[in-house]
Amino acid sequence: MTFEALGLNTSLIKALVDAGYTKPTPVQEQAVPAAIAGKDLLVSSQTGSGKTAAFMLPSLHRLAEMEPTAAAKTANQEMQAARARGERPRFKAAQPKMLVLTPTRELALQVTTNTDKYSVNLRRLKAVSILGGMPYPKQMQLLAKNPEILVATPGRLIDHMESGKIDFSQLEILVLDEADRMLDMGFIDDIEKIVDATPSTRQTMLFSATLDGVVGNMARRITKDPQIIQVVSAANKHENITQRVHFVDDLSHKNRLLDHLLRDESLDQAVVFTATKRDADTIADRLNIAGFSAAALHGDMHQGARNRTLDSLRRGQVKILIATDVAARGIDVPTITHVFNYDLPKFPEDYVHRIGRTGRAGRDGLAISLVNHAEGMNVKRIERFTKQLIPVNVIEGYEPKKTASAARSTSRPGGWKPGDNRTGAKPGQRTFSKPGAPRKEGATTGGGYKGSNPRSTDGARRSYGDR
Ligand code: ADP
Ligand code: MG
Repeated sequence: MTFEALGLNTSLIKALVDAGYTKPTPVQEQAVPAAIAGKDLLVSSQTGSGKTAAFMLPSLHRLAEMEPTAAAKTANQEMQAARARGERPRFKAAQPKMLVLTPTRELALQVTTNTDKYSVNLRRLKAVSILGGMPYPKQMQLLAKNPEILVATPGRLIDHMESGKIDFSQLEILVLDEADRMLDMGFIDDIEKIVDATPSTRQTMLFSATLDGVVGNMARRITKDPQIIQVVSAANKHENITQRVHFVDDLSHKNRLLDHLLRDESLDQAVVFTATKRDADTIADRLNIAGFSAAALHGDMHQGARNRTLDSLRRGQVKILIATDVAARGIDVPTITHVFNYDLPKFPEDYVHRIGRTGRAGRDGLAISLVNHAEGMNVKRIERFTKQLIPVNVIEGYEPKKTASAARSTSRPGGWKPGDNRTGAKPGQRTFSKPGAPRKEGATTGGGYKGSNPRSTDGARRSYGDR
């Protein structure tokens, strides 16, 4: 799917190319054509899925086709002419054609910035933000330009509406961005008041994390025959992340395999997760000696050191980050192509957070877990949690010596069949220990899955060469 196919005009397409947008996101694919057609929309899709462009692009497209609003210049000329005639010049209220309501100033500024980017080739169309905390004279100056697009937080907008500085009689498009948050923040009365001041012929688009409950009720009140768009993004399901398990016999096997995998040509940057801070440090040291540019990130480091490490990662100076769960939460670096679980996480939820460090911004990612034979159960728990099977891979020259029974296949969710293995590893390579086999968790992996004492995985559990 291309932006052209969505029906946007060439000025907008050019701006999108300049902005580096190569193709529409799923929510844009659905919202843009419907909005160009003038339909009301109720949209829910997760953060980062490109909702701003989903409403701004079709709106700019439509506004560009409408009669321009009397420009500020004309308004000024009229005022001067009035003065020349000896009349008292009348302040003319701004008459925006589009209004975007957002819960916060930051969000309003983001929307305005994006709009400027999309409308560079449509000089006439300017977006202006009216925000709480902005000096009043500055706001009056902005409104005097009679912008076609207003982006505002509800409270401050009401002030201007009530003092006659804004007239919504010409409004064509109303957008409520993050409507659920606006309601959470108690803006419902303000929103209703603003909506009532706009023509009932307007087009209304509402964006929200959820369309249930209070938001849903308001949404249905202020829209007419809306098209409902709900997108569960691939990133949420991690569909763009390829997952793999590699079985290892012991620590030395694990380290050799990791070094080999880190030399993968498709690897741009990687995060390696360890169970303990000590391991993070040790592995970072070892990898640096082996010639990788690696750095550790964990909770024992001072905030300053953590920030410096993250900056180096973002700048590409650090290629491999060795991190613990807590430290790595929220890392958003699009150039991370690989995530390694040097140790499996204690909880399946953490597995999902970990692998989500790759495959950012719609890119593909690879998540590889290095797993001891005794940890087969833990892989199963993750699979049950994610409702996805993780294929087992074997690399020539790094095969595990132990080949376990096919016990795993009988207890897979939904029943694993040989054909299920999408990466082509042979069924016989799906090596798991027998369920009844003794699992010396403390000795081999530290496990921690029993959930008893997370700290039991810390400390002297592992030092290189002692097993
Ligand atoms: P949301 O409102 O859904 O949280 P945003 O509209 O803020 O998401 O967009 C998130 C980021 O994605 C922004 O940096 C935006 O510039 C970028 N973006 C939006 N659409 C595209 C696209 N089609 N291609 C590439 N980047 C995009
Ligand atoms: Mg948004």
